[in-house]
Amino acid sequence: MNEFDFIKQLREQVGQRKHPPRLIAGIGDDAAIIRPTSQRDLVVTTDLLIEGVDFHRYATPPSLLGHKALAVSLSDIAGMGARPCWAFLSFGMPRDTWNGPGRDQFVAGFLQLADTFGVTLAGGDISATEEKIVIDSIVLGEVAAGNAVLRSGARPGDQIYVTGNLGGAAAGLKLIELGARVESQSKPGVRPSPLGRGQGEGGEAIATGSSVQSEERSIQSLLLRQLSPSPRVGWGIVLGEERLATAMIDISDGLSSDLHHLCAESNAGALVEADAIPLDEDVKHLCGRRALDPLMLALHGGEDFELLFTVAPENVSRLPKRVDGVAISHIGEINDQTATVTIREKNHEWNLLPGGFEHFKE
Ligand code: ADP
Ligand code: MG
Repeated sequence: MNEFDFIKQLREQVGQRKHPPRLIAGIGDDAAIIRPTSQRDLVVTTDLLIEGVDFHRYATPPSLLGHKALAVSLSDIAGMGARPCWAFLSFGMPRDTWNGPGRDQFVAGFLQLADTFGVTLAGGDISATEEKIVIDSIVLGEVAAGNAVLRSGARPGDQIYVTGNLGGAAAGLKLIELGARVESQSKPGVRPSPLGRGQGEGGEAIATGSSVQSEERSIQSLLLRQLSPSPRVGWGIVLGEERLATAMIDISDGLSSDLHHLCAESNAGALVEADAIPLDEDVKHLCGRRALDPLMLALHGGEDFELLFTVAPENVSRLPKRVDGVAISHIGEINDQTATVTIREKNHEWNLLPGGFEHFKE
């Protein structure tokens, strides 16, 4: 059983029980929605980060770990169209990390991002672990009652958009696995081999003609896409407040998987134009198409923490061009082919299966 089947089963078990009427949405979206008063809704999300699974300590400076722990939850709040307000931070760490500089750097990274978005750390819990760092970050956000954007609101004819660009975080992870480190950490003389080199046949391809310096700049920005994601908080607030999006999800598992989640919840399907998918420029710079296909990274690589949303045709002209300097791309349209995502590249169409990350893949 994979995690999504487990969540489905849990949702059914919980669904059979009696609900307080003020739980507007429980299991099944980026965050739960609770209605404390008739005016405002609270949205609540929690995210677990486990060392060795969700991050590698040797490649993750503590301040970036603190940043990412909050960023992933802010992204879920943005995915609901809500404004983040309060955070709770629970963590366990081994004694050597606790007694070294890592503890304070971790908290500083978390608080710096919290300050950026006016989020207050309101509580948490601490424990000592034998060996590994474990983090649970909880964020609460606010939205006018009824304005939260669910995964389930897309209708045939709605237009599909994505913020920013895709594939960078997955490329960053590959670079880490190949030995690349963010600049403050890297040792002189140890330069990671670029993406795709040594990956079997076709690995010829990389950055021909570009200088070592610009290649290094691309490597550094991709590492930061993976280690220090920028949640699209501003876009989330605008789409929720202006009631522009009919459905939304943040891209944590990968575009293919998250679009499937959105379509399944909306009882709809989607047609996506391959050429319209915004590819990360640094990925294009470093990857030869045959060595590591930027489109494949954009479709199936996770952790970009961009927003994927749908807009009714009559509202398309009301969409801002940019929010906080981040643009959007129109990538396709919702149709009535329930739970089916089709992708079209030139004259060729194929079924886009969910290929994103799963913890308990069979
Ligand atoms: P996301 O990637 O947006 O954080 P997940 O795939 O982790 O979403 O979770 C999907 C849904 O399942 C969410 O509504 C989440 O709250 C719920 N969920 C996940 N794990 C559990 C759990 N252990 N108990 C209850 N609900 C869960
Ligand atoms: Mg999410």
